[in-house]
Parts: sequence; C-alpha cells; structure tokens
Amino acid sequence: MNVTKLTCSSCGETHPAGEIHNLCRVCGLPLLVEYDLEAAAQTLSPESLRGREASMWRYREVLPVEDPANIVSLGEGMTPLLSVQRLGSAIGMKHLYIKDEGQNPTGSFKARGMTAAVSMAKELGVEKLAVPSAGNAAGAMAAYAARAGLPAYIFMPKDTPIANVIECREMGARVTLMDGLITDCGAEVGRRKEAEGWFDVSTLKEPYRIEGKKTLGYELAEQLNWELPDALLYPTGGGTGLIGMWKAFDEMERMGWIDSRRPRIYSVQAEGCAPIVRAFESGAEKAEMFANAHTKASGLRVPKAIGDFIMLDAIRRSHGGAVAVSDEAMLASVREMGRCEGIFAAPEGAACHAALVQLLMDGKIERDERVVIFNTGCGLKYLECFSD
Ligand SMILES: *Cc1c(COP(=O)(O)O)cnc(C)c1O
Ligand SMILES: [Zn+2]
Repeated sequence: MNVTKLTCSSCGETHPAGEIHNLCRVCGLPLLVEYDLEAAAQTLSPESLRGREASMWRYREVLPVEDPANIVSLGEGMTPLLSVQRLGSAIGMKHLYIKDEGQNPTGSFKARGMTAAVSMAKELGVEKLAVPSAGNAAGAMAAYAARAGLPAYIFMPKDTPIANVIECREMGARVTLMDGLITDCGAEVGRRKEAEGWFDVSTLKEPYRIEGKKTLGYELAEQLNWELPDALLYPTGGGTGLIGMWKAFDEMERMGWIDSRRPRIYSVQAEGCAPIVRAFESGAEKAEMFANAHTKASGLRVPKAIGDFIMLDAIRRSHGGAVAVSDEAMLASVREMGRCEGIFAAPEGAACHAALVQLLMDGKIERDERVVIFNTGCGLKYLECFSD
C-alpha cells in the first residue's frame, strides 16, 4: 500500500515496486520491501488498531498489497499470546509466553507468509505458482493458491509428514515428491520454472513472504502493550520469521511506537541440522551447507538458507544466540507443553522449550525475564512422530 521500492539486503541495489521480482538482479540475494512509513503512520497507529479485524491484515498500511480486493485471506494471524504459568513454573520462570501459531489456517505460521505472497502474485498478474517445501509452506501455498484460483506446483521431500502431502492434494495442488531435501526440491523448481511459466515462491527468493511473517513482530508488540519482551526463541529453518520480526521492530521504531531496545533473539535448530548454530558459534557471517541433515522437525530441515547472513547479523545485533537441541528433547517438550498447558505443539515449537531449558542452565536467560517462545505449528500435522 505504501511500498516505495525493494532494496537488496546485500548490495543495496533498488528495484521498482509494482513489478514481479524474485532475487536481486545484480547479486542474486534477497530483496527487502521498503515503505513510506510517514505515510503509513498517518492512518496506522497503536490507537487506530482498536476495532480493526482480528487478522494480520489489520496492519495493512505496512503490508504490500495496493488494492484490498487482491487480498487472499483465510483469517490468518492475530493468534493468541498465551501466558503459560504451569509450563513456566516447572522451570522456575514467572513470565513465559507462547505465541501459538498452530492456530493459523493450515495449522502453521506459514499462512502469514503465503497470504502475503499469493495476494501479491494475484495483484501482479502471476498465473502459476511453484514452491519447494519441507511441508507446511506447501500446505499453506496449496490453500492460498486455491483461494485465489491459481494453480500450485509443489515439490516436497519423500519423507515430508503425510499430513502435508494429503492437505496439498485435497486442496487441488500438483504435488511432486522427491528424493533428497528441500534444497534439492528448490533446485528442481529453479531448473523448470522458466519452461513451465512458474513463479517461484521459495523462502526469501520471493520478497513478500517476509512481509507476511513480519506481522509476528507487530502482533507481539501490540499484545504486550508495546513493551517488547527480553528474549525470543525462534525455531529456524529458512529464517523468514526471524528476519521479518527484526524488520518489524525497525519499522515500529521508525514510526515512534517502540524505542531502540530489542529482545535478544535466540535461533533454535535441531542437532541433526544446525547450520545457523554452527555459523554463530564459529563467528562466521554466512553458514556452510549442513551435510546429512536429518530431524523429525521437518520445518527445521533446511541445510542451507539464502538469508543466513541476515539472520546471523540480527541475532548478533540483538545480543542473542543460537542453540541446537536433540529430537528426543523436542519430543519430550511436546509432551511437557501438552501436559502443562493443553497446547499440542509442533516439534519445531517444542524445540524452543527444550532450548529454553538449556539457556536457563547456561545462565544466558534469567528466570525473571520476560520470554516468548514461538509454537510455529500444530502437533496434529506430525502424527507419525508420536506413533511409538
Ligand atoms: C517452516 C517452519 C519453521 C521454520 O520457519 P522459517 O521461517 O523457515 O525459519 C518452523 N516451524 C514450523 C512448524 C515450520 O513450518
Ligand atoms: Zn544485490
């Protein structure tokens, strides 16, 4: 609505709004959307939000769609930020919250990114959508493409949770299952997209999924009455949510809604696939491809992320960190979250609880701090993880 241009996250090259873009035309790295925040702030303010619709589109002035008629929505966002007393007191914490993203359409926070990406695809006249996915992005893409009346071509690893495969088929997507990982699926989309006329909606290779995911940051601030927490734990695959929230904090500061303090951001990954943790610990600016990636948390099975340098910069500037947890610890945390709070978490979300226990032991997080963990999906989509 108030988009001025798209700027490369690496070389700074600008790209005009209102045109179809994937990566930077100069250096091939992700583009970030820029807004006229002064114009946005004329109608958007903390007060103006009262009484607006309970979806992430309540922040429409800082979202990219020009004509509201192009918004393809299933009621995503504005998920509850739950104060979790029993789960918290079990580990000595008083101010622990869960942002429960499992309540989104298609049961994961991928809905936020896909509502924005598919709305923009519709606005810009895209005809066919393609995406490589570790699972939940595929389900969300299938849903929003169906809602927009656009065909969706989806490429997933063979070992993707069965719920993701079924939901895509039942929502009319063309599904291809591949040997290998999401990176191999991405390469297949890349090879075929030109000949097939597909628009590639891969994580960060498409500029608007970050815009959808950044609403996590706006909601967090709004739900905490514009006082951000001390620390956030984010289960990290491609990193759209992490990068998006960091961007949202910056935009809110520039509109005068929050000050310059930031929550410490902790990236949480699986021991079997922890490229960001490795890079963080070694002091590297970028991450190496993580060989033989494996974990039951399919959303974290991303061995190489194109936005790794943006994430690592945000984590370091926030004075946060990066933690890897085992699959056993994640599954134990699923049960703990379920037992204490009635939240059936995705293994990715539960990984944040397991990581929090480690960070408390290491003294990186204090027991009296205000901490938010993101349960990014619903456990119902991972039933095979709990079959024994
Ligand atoms: C995709 C996904 C993640 C990782 O999100 P990124 O934005 O790729 O870092 C975490 N949890 C779940 C449930 C997911 O589907
Ligand atoms: Zn560039």
